Amino acid sequence: MISYKEACGIISKEIEQIILLSEEVEILSSVGRVLAEDIIADVDLPPFNNSAVDGYAVRFGQSREWNIVGEVSAGNYKQYSITDKDAVLITTGSKMPDGTDTSIPIEIVDVMDDTLYLKEGTILKQGMNVREKGNDLVKDKVALLKYEKISSKNIGALATCGKSKVKVFRKLKIAVLATGDELIAVDEVPVDDKIRISNIYSICAAIVELGHEPVVLGFVKDIKELIREEVVKAIALDIDILITTGGVSVGKYDFLKEIFNEIGIQEKFWKVNIKPGKPIFFGTFNKSCKEILVFGLPGNPVSSSVNFSVFIRPALDKLYKQNVTRVVNAVLQEDIQKKDDKRHFFNGVLYEENSIWKVNSRFSNSSGNLIEMSRANCFIVFKEELKNLFKGDEVTCIRM
Ligand code: AMP
Ligand code: MG
Repeated sequence: MISYKEACGIISKEIEQIILLSEEVEILSSVGRVLAEDIIADVDLPPFNNSAVDGYAVRFGQSREWNIVGEVSAGNYKQYSITDKDAVLITTGSKMPDGTDTSIPIEIVDVMDDTLYLKEGTILKQGMNVREKGNDLVKDKVALLKYEKISSKNIGALATCGKSKVKVFRKLKIAVLATGDELIAVDEVPVDDKIRISNIYSICAAIVELGHEPVVLGFVKDIKELIREEVVKAIALDIDILITTGGVSVGKYDFLKEIFNEIGIQEKFWKVNIKPGKPIFFGTFNKSCKEILVFGLPGNPVSSSVNFSVFIRPALDKLYKQNVTRVVNAVLQEDIQKKDDKRHFFNGVLYEENSIWKVNSRFSNSSGNLIEMSRANCFIVFKEELKNLFKGDEVTCIRM
């Protein structure tokens, strides 16, 4: 059995072999996708000097009184020949008339007929309230870097740089196949010894959250030939990763590892010194065109979710160069114990109090207790060499 760190290293090495392809998508379809190109400003931003306020554009000087010679509103530029004595009514966003350099807010002036007076006690500064051409970004400079994960905050930047379409990395196609005689569909009512299939939904949802494309293969009974058929069909698909759940441990009907070996999936490791999620299998399958990564996760809902969060998600983050802060150090709020030398992942609730991150561990850690896990928001890392963690200890937490 290998350690958690060794397992991460092996996965990381294989996942880095995946060649990221790119595609062009419409700007609004790019939300949640990872940029495959630098976004360059094709013009100065803003493209012209403009007023940051509604007011009057003047040429800065000693004057406190001007003749109003005209107006410019946003999008309706007009040229005036301006002297030190002239002012032009201007609205927010309007281009500053040539010859002016200062925009006086409407709140600090009085207007009588066509004359503008600066109110008593107010002072002007040269260039005040003028947003200069290129002040946000100069033409030909980088607005957004390749590998930025696009969110709503970036969309405006793409738009203003003229990108109605944008080059993003293709999503990985990740197929998910569940196994187990006990599994029934979600819309069926469990009788006797059946349980609703939950894993496939948890895993596919986690894939979607990461911005990839799940390929739902459904579930299959614990009959070796049937499972083999489904796995063979799965690896023939145009996918990057196959995830199976269930049947990968040492039970009489746990066939997955055998099947993986028989059909030529090259085993990289089986079993990691962690809890929950120990029986995880990882291997690769070489097709002529590419290598498919294969993860055999245990069926227990908590185990498979932990496996996804501590192995698959960080590896995919790394592949797409996503610097996501999923790890938080927090102060433990009660004593916790374990008896073995595995690395444990305890359900925890992470919260901030007086600017300090704290975590409690009040939910059960049974690997079957899916509801308990869904009430937690992180996994507390309980390292191999420790048996006790005490209230007040600083622990590492992985956000769910
Ligand atoms: P296994 O890994 O096949 O030994 O399954 C371990 C436990 O997880 C058993 O209690 C199964 O009933 C349960 N289980 C297996 N597959 C699923 C699934 N897809 N959804 C929910 N529970 C499952
Ligand atoms: Mg099973």
